Amino acid sequence: MRQHDIIIAGASFAGLALARGLSQALGRDVRVALLDSAPAGHGADAASDPRASAVSASSRRMLEALGVWASIADAAQPVSRVEITDSSLDAGIRPVLLTYEPVADDGSGEPVMHIVPNARLMAALERVTAGDPVIGRPVVTEVSGFERAPSSIAALLAGGARVEASLWVAADGRRSRLREAAGIGTVGWSYGQTGIVTTVAHELPHEGRAVQHFLPAGPFAILPLTASHEGTHRSCITWSETAANASAIMALDDAGFLDEVDHRFGGRLGVLKLAGGRKCWPLEVHLSRAYTVPRLALIGDAAHGVHPIAGQGLNLALRDVAALVECVADGVRLGLDFADATILERYARWRRFDSAVSAAAFDSLNRVFSNDWQLARSAREAGLGLVDRVPQLKRWLVAEAAGLTGVLPRLLRGLPA
Ligand SMILES: Cc1cc2nc3c(=O)[nH]c(=O)nc-3n(C[C@H](O)[C@H](O)[C@H](O)COP(=O)(O)OP(=O)(O)OC[C@H]3O[C@@H](n4cnc5c(N)ncnc54)[C@H](O)[C@@H]3O)c2cc1C
Repeated sequence: MRQHDIIIAGASFAGLALARGLSQALGRDVRVALLDSAPAGHGADAASDPRASAVSASSRRMLEALGVWASIADAAQPVSRVEITDSSLDAGIRPVLLTYEPVADDGSGEPVMHIVPNARLMAALERVTAGDPVIGRPVVTEVSGFERAPSSIAALLAGGARVEASLWVAADGRRSRLREAAGIGTVGWSYGQTGIVTTVAHELPHEGRAVQHFLPAGPFAILPLTASHEGTHRSCITWSETAANASAIMALDDAGFLDEVDHRFGGRLGVLKLAGGRKCWPLEVHLSRAYTVPRLALIGDAAHGVHPIAGQGLNLALRDVAALVECVADGVRLGLDFADATILERYARWRRFDSAVSAAAFDSLNRVFSNDWQLARSAREAGLGLVDRVPQLKRWLVAEAAGLTGVLPRLLRGLPA
């Protein structure tokens, strides 16, 4: 007998959020299981994941609906202002070319973007799913292949076990083994850039200001964090460098590394100190050629990986989750099988276009800004200056940052799925 309706491979942001959304939508009518090749807790401390993510208003509403937001709200820094600069590395001054206030335009002044430490979000998702009687703790194992039957799909696990489900969901990240085992190809390329992440403490308060310095080797983002328990002002740095520079920078001792950060930081927040470890990731873009095949759906980085230039990878993953929960819940309420073709087709239609447009937009931004050509810089200055002066364009930027464009699934509107 089949023991599970849905098995989710990958118990990270996308997989955990999906399990929770399905459990809330269908309760005991869905038997859902999670598995991950790494033990629980592997991304739930700042040493293993020092990143912080820009969580959009729609993602925040979804996290509220999933019962996760309350336990991370104290660590979520509202963004009051975004500033964009574009200069060479050695420019003494980094003139601000574009600013906007990412707050709701309904008069409430509600922030539409929060910066949340990844480790806190992961810990909260793990806690809420572990306490959910429908889900339980992820099993630590790996999928090595699939066997399909007309009414189910069986995965072969490391160690030889064979597990059947009606629907499998690949939430196993950029190098998805499930995607590969299902024969789904990808289109994409490496940027030859590396994303370096660290946390710094600074003398002066950031006042909720997020800064994106476009530098020739790639964007250098300063994301404001809440103050530490001791009241230290802190920001997370997400910084793209050429792969060769990044290796040299990562090999520096703390003093040398801090000098490199300081050189790019812009010097507006007083004396800097390192306030956490550093980690780096190779940057690449990829899009899966299909988001579903019979009895398998891809979500999150398994489906698409984007440049972190706009800090949207996690938000896109949550959009996938919200759409898949809604498609499955609506289908099952109509009496369809969990993996009915109409459910999977609706999900793929809903998400493929949006992800492809986002990946292309972030790719273009990175290409346009990551160079030191004077002509390109003049054009960028003119373009950013124009956006800075046109209120409608700024309103559009705020709506994009809020994740409130397009047809939103119920969870992203803060409604039960
Ligand atoms: C430098 C950098 C900065 C970023 N900044 C931002 C930001 O500011 N805002 C934002 O929205 N996004 C950001 N992102 C992107 C964001 O981190 C990702 O989009 C997000 O982590 C995707 O989550 P996921 O759950 O799909 O995959 P992942 O978090 O990659 O999780 C995949 C899971 O699958 C498991 N797994 C892997 N293989 C197997 C297997 N064979 N079987 C079972 N389990 C397996 C892994 O152990 C892991 O738990 C950034 C990314 C980078 C690299």
